[in-house]
Amino acid sequence: MTTLAFLGLGNMGGPMAANLVKAGHAVTGFDLVPAACEAARREGVAVADSAAAAVAGAEAVITMLPAGRHVLAVLDGILPLLAPGTLVVDCSTIDVASARAAHAKAAERGLASLDAPVSGGVGGARAATLTFMAGGSPEAFARAEPLLARMGRKAVHCGGAGAGQAAKICNNMILGISMIGVSEAFVLAEKLGLSHQALFDVASTSSGQCWSLTTYCPVPGPVPTSPANAEYKPGFAAALMLKDLRLSQEAAREAGAATPLGAHAEALYAAFEEAGHGGTDFSGIVRHLREMAREG
Ligand code: NAD
Repeated sequence: MTTLAFLGLGNMGGPMAANLVKAGHAVTGFDLVPAACEAARREGVAVADSAAAAVAGAEAVITMLPAGRHVLAVLDGILPLLAPGTLVVDCSTIDVASARAAHAKAAERGLASLDAPVSGGVGGARAATLTFMAGGSPEAFARAEPLLARMGRKAVHCGGAGAGQAAKICNNMILGISMIGVSEAFVLAEKLGLSHQALFDVASTSSGQCWSLTTYCPVPGPVPTSPANAEYKPGFAAALMLKDLRLSQEAAREAGAATPLGAHAEALYAAFEEAGHGGTDFSGIVRHLREMAREG
């Protein structure tokens, strides 16, 4: 049993903390939102009344917060309170620069740290089937692995500080672009009188094959489990896809990488959100493309 602190008990953090409790760890949590604390308490998390109180005696601290600024602010508050040897693991999806700054803050205090964002969504957080992509020293990764294994199915050590966040935003940039590509193909097929099923049968066994088509098909029918069959209820909300695409473009600007399709994908998802669909599954972008044809 390890004594853990879990900061940020929202849609993802709440079930992740609950899975650590189920694995037999002593978990003390904190969130600014009382309802999130209450839900975690029902799952056996001991709820503290501040982040500072939550980290008292913790051997490892896990954060699952909205953005880089929240992570850095929380770290500024708690790092001076942590005992030597405490491991700091941030599972939030944040910008690479903030992730590196978080590692530097921990290192200043001689603490091992890991950026370990996840894919798998709320369903994966509940079922403990998340994939973690981690950045940090091999020693920090080795120490975190048994904890990550209780919250997910797979953990990949991607490299040094920030490498986990880099992997996450590169992967999600592929996903955003490929979902738009697959959706455009279906919209064109509709105009050409080609059925969804016919396009699916060909493309899913041809060079157009990809996850956005075969697992998460954006039109109803060919893949019965995809959100398209449930009125595009998320799943993975378009607002979160937009967040990740924005992070990818911020990183591309800072690193001097040319990502023109990533930039287009960001603009399309921004327009989709502005039209009021941020809470829709990101595969609902197919509807936006149909609208564009009507308007254009
Ligand atoms: P959420 O908004 O449900 O949870 C974040 C929680 O952090 C909130 O409950 C908020 O009150 C809390 N918080 C903010 N500042 C705090 C502070 N100073 N101290 C303590 N708690 C604080 O968001 P979520 O869906 O759980 O996502 C968390 C992170 O995981 C985000 O970075 C998100 O991008 C990432 N993520 C989400 C999903 C998903 O499907 N929801 C999938 C992969 C990654």
